Amino acid sequence: MHIENTKILSALPNLGVDLLRSVSLGELTSLGIGGATDLLRIHRHQSIPSLLNLLEETEVPHKFLGGGSNLLVIDGELPFIVLQLAQPNPDVVIAGNIASVDAAADLGKTVTLCAKNNLGGMEGLIGVPGTVGGALRMNAGAYGMQIGSYVREVKVYRAATRTIEILRGPEISFEYRHTSFAPDDMMLAVTLDLPSKPYQQILQGIRICNEKRRSSQPLGQKSAGCIFKNPPGGSAGRMIDELGLKGFSRGDARVSDRHANFFVNTGRASAADMLALIAEVRERVQQAYGVTLENEVVVWNA
Ligand SMILES: Cc1cc2nc3c(=O)[nH]c(=O)nc-3n(C[C@H](O)[C@H](O)[C@H](O)COP(=O)(O)OP(=O)(O)OC[C@H]3O[C@@H](n4cnc5c(N)ncnc54)[C@H](O)[C@@H]3O)c2cc1C
Repeated sequence: MHIENTKILSALPNLGVDLLRSVSLGELTSLGIGGATDLLRIHRHQSIPSLLNLLEETEVPHKFLGGGSNLLVIDGELPFIVLQLAQPNPDVVIAGNIASVDAAADLGKTVTLCAKNNLGGMEGLIGVPGTVGGALRMNAGAYGMQIGSYVREVKVYRAATRTIEILRGPEISFEYRHTSFAPDDMMLAVTLDLPSKPYQQILQGIRICNEKRRSSQPLGQKSAGCIFKNPPGGSAGRMIDELGLKGFSRGDARVSDRHANFFVNTGRASAADMLALIAEVRERVQQAYGVTLENEVVVWNA
């Protein structure tokens, strides 16, 4: 989608928003799939209510992009524009046990910086790509931990009130890959309350998690991590593996040989290939186990 409305175009410089024309989402997502659209990069949180009002008023559909590591985007000219937060400097500030982190901050870098300040708890998140905002939205987690457990406050643009609010941790529900934020709320910053731990001990935990990932995930390949959420008490990857579907493919979209819940783009997979593979695997699991697998990957198809 091309922004042509002159009211929007003339407002952007004053709002501190950069316009990037015809950006390929295939280049901004870890799956390497997706068509092109205009992208607005936001430098000032306080501009967001005015920007969003303008987009609503002019009926420009929009979606919010973090690091693109949990997204499957359709091909071709996209019917929406994309908003993204610019990276501030500094993006992480640590005082005592509190880390104040901008949503645009890289998650891995944040975990490492906290570790160097003897703040632990997030060892399992090392190796989870993307931004801190994306991790909050998804309640990212691994190896028995999730980011939501450490959230003290979140600065969020609330679509319902069209204002920026500060929510305290207990006001937000963080469940398995699900949060109580509304779909069009925007995470802007977070304060994390982290347990003190000696750096060497955190490093040891990080090494163990890294080794687990290296030995079980297709890390050099284009993927979005796990495609499906695990059903209650079960493992999506184990069910897909038991059905002999590792290596099963549609075009260049393929169930990874290393981890059956990672679907990889082995070359020039289209969104249609990946969606067809997801639908086929879901159908086979449904038939064999009577379980309907729910997407963990977020699909942008309209
Ligand atoms: C190799 C690999 C391994 C992975 N391992 C794990 C794992 O162990 N555990 C796990 O939980 N995930 C894992 N993932 C998935 C992914 O990295 C996480 O879901 C990550 O937290 C997504 O962050 P992102 O910034 O890339 O979000 P994006 O992919 O850009 O966006 C995902 C969703 O969050 C929304 N969003 C992004 N930023 C914001 C914001 N600031 N405010 C509001 N909404 C926002 C988007 O609109 C979209 O709906 C893995 C992915 C890969 C490629």
